[in-house]
Amino acid sequence: MIDVCDINVMKPLLQEHGFHFSKSKGQNFLIAPWVPRSIAEEAGVDAGSGVLEIGPGVGPLTQQLCLRAGKVCAVEVDTRLIPILERTVGDFPNLEILWQDVLKLDVAALVREKFAGLRPMACANLPYYITSPILTALLEAECFDSVTVMVQKEVAQRMAAQPGTAEYGAFSLFCQYYGRPELLFDVPAHCFLPQPKVTSAVVSLRIYRENPWDVTDKDLFFRVVKASFAMRRKKLSNGLASAFPELGKAGAAEVIRSAGFEESVRGETLGIPEFAAIAEEIRKRRQPQ
Ligand code: SAM
Repeated sequence: MIDVCDINVMKPLLQEHGFHFSKSKGQNFLIAPWVPRSIAEEAGVDAGSGVLEIGPGVGPLTQQLCLRAGKVCAVEVDTRLIPILERTVGDFPNLEILWQDVLKLDVAALVREKFAGLRPMACANLPYYITSPILTALLEAECFDSVTVMVQKEVAQRMAAQPGTAEYGAFSLFCQYYGRPELLFDVPAHCFLPQPKVTSAVVSLRIYRENPWDVTDKDLFFRVVKASFAMRRKKLSNGLASAFPELGKAGAAEVIRSAGFEESVRGETLGIPEFAAIAEEIRKRRQPQ
């Protein structure tokens, strides 16, 4: 197997194919072999796993996934990588590469079609310029057992942040609605070619099989969450009153009290059950029973 993380192998390989890194495609390739190995190991990939990889690049993580998984589907948008991936991962019988933009994929349909009988997982060193839309698509597909990704460290911290911390926000709640986050390890900039300006980190979300939250209307719940963080420095009642004008200021305050909280409460101190209680109060007012 070609050691694509060895810079003395990767550089000539890229040169041979006239490949130049594309900044606009978020191309920072791994050159530290311990990183893709650790991602595949920590994600718990085994023969029963069907792994969706996003952005294989020249294939360092793809190799580690293919060595362990029942099947790997890798989605790559940059077709200049076709001859390179043919050399680095072309011999794996359990690999299928889809030359597409991941954001144009129906992820749930793909997983159903490709991973029948396997435990679906997503594993990737993400292109950072589209981290949020990719994570949103992966989580909203509601079809994975786990989602393990390398992202900018500050994004990983936001994904795993707890109420009352500076990093906590709507994105934390969005991720934690779907799964339990675990920060796995940091990856310094010198592990990539070219080097990004930021430190990276690998984070894993163990997706809940049965959603544990008492949320009746998911869209309404996330509207409440967004409203609360849109006016971060203000009281929750102000955010609610502006996102739900039909409530008015007095109505927003009453919703918060009926859900069991002080009227002066701030959104950044509340967790998913608390936001669920507030969303439920709003729902009941809209649909009196
Ligand atoms: N997995 C490789 C590694 O770890 O060295 C490459 C990771 S690099 C950070 C991100 C990869 O995602 C690149 O190969 C890039 O071409 C690919 N990519 C960027 N945008 C994409 C998209 N919309 N759909 C699929 N792949 C994309």
